[in-house]
Amino acid sequence: MSTQPLIAKIELFKVPPRWQFVKISTSDGNFGWGEPILEGKADTVAACIAEMSHHLLGKPAGHIEDLFQVMHRGGFYRGGPIISSAISGIEQALWDAKGKRLGVPIYELLGGPVRERVRLYSWIGGDQPEKLAHAARERVAQGYTGLKMNVTHQTDWIDSAALVDGVVAKTAAVREAIGAEVGLALDFHGRVHRGMAKVLLRELEPFRLMFVEEPVLVENFDAMREIARGSSVPIATGERLYTRWGFKQLLSDGVVDVIQPDISHAGGLWECRKIAAMAEAYDIAVALHCPLGPIALAASLQLDFCTPNAFIQEQVLGLQYGQASDKLDYLVGGQNFGFQDGFVPRSEKAGLGIEIDEAKVREAALTGHNWRNPGWRLPDGSFAEW
Ligand SMILES: [Mg+2]
Repeated sequence: MSTQPLIAKIELFKVPPRWQFVKISTSDGNFGWGEPILEGKADTVAACIAEMSHHLLGKPAGHIEDLFQVMHRGGFYRGGPIISSAISGIEQALWDAKGKRLGVPIYELLGGPVRERVRLYSWIGGDQPEKLAHAARERVAQGYTGLKMNVTHQTDWIDSAALVDGVVAKTAAVREAIGAEVGLALDFHGRVHRGMAKVLLRELEPFRLMFVEEPVLVENFDAMREIARGSSVPIATGERLYTRWGFKQLLSDGVVDVIQPDISHAGGLWECRKIAAMAEAYDIAVALHCPLGPIALAASLQLDFCTPNAFIQEQVLGLQYGQASDKLDYLVGGQNFGFQDGFVPRSEKAGLGIEIDEAKVREAALTGHNWRNPGWRLPDGSFAEW
């Protein structure tokens, strides 16, 4: 018989701006938090968790691998964004509870730390080269040593030379503003089709980019492979892939240089650690995707601390603003993870290492949200990828 505490209660909180948190309480009075969300599909993920709850309630909370197996394989259909995001948030909360129960950070339970601090990158935005250059200088002044930006809006299957010139002008302006020391990544966001991706990557070669993300949609695997082989620019992808099986072919085919699993979509901490280990065996780097809230970032950081090939971490919380950022309101005292000089130092705090302001979360959940991604159209009225 297991002496583990049992899962007693699962509560969901849909909170602004576009997040969803889960609190799992256990029979010993302990609890853990997770972030089970698929952007724009919060209610669908919530329904999935409700349907999975019979696998969880009354079961030993610390049997995380077994619970993953049952959640992933026990419903006949498996994988995909909804089921994997539901599992991810539950799994994070179980690790948080386990870490708190044992009094150690999660990274201590996943092999121990391999680094003292984690490098973060920041998004910059702007329509014009000068605006982007200004934003880039601002972020570098705040300590960031890595930046990422979108460089195209809606992009036609085959677009104009002017679009190519615009991308080059923006990239050149930012590289000029930040110098060679700061890493610069571009996110094509899956907006660009094969024909334009080839052209753009060739034009972008001189700017020595950190990586280009989703040069084409990952489902266009053959195009991705061809594009990657024809370019020296490091290629990154993975925010729309789920579980080890989703990453398998991408890794074994050597299509990418950087994988970007999302800890709230790909299956949680332990699953992403396994994916990272698979990548390591192919000499592929990891930059965890994280456009989400403080729990997802905390979980990502735990993994970065114990994953050798994780070299940089995405975040959108405005850590540089400290207490001024309302996105950190859900953490007690508006903690900003100790962000300094572009890095987050390793914390010895138990579990995810954060303290959630439960009263604020409960209050915000009364408002909730109905976030949807923008819908774009090309000049001729046809649909364009966001
Ligand atoms: Mg992206």
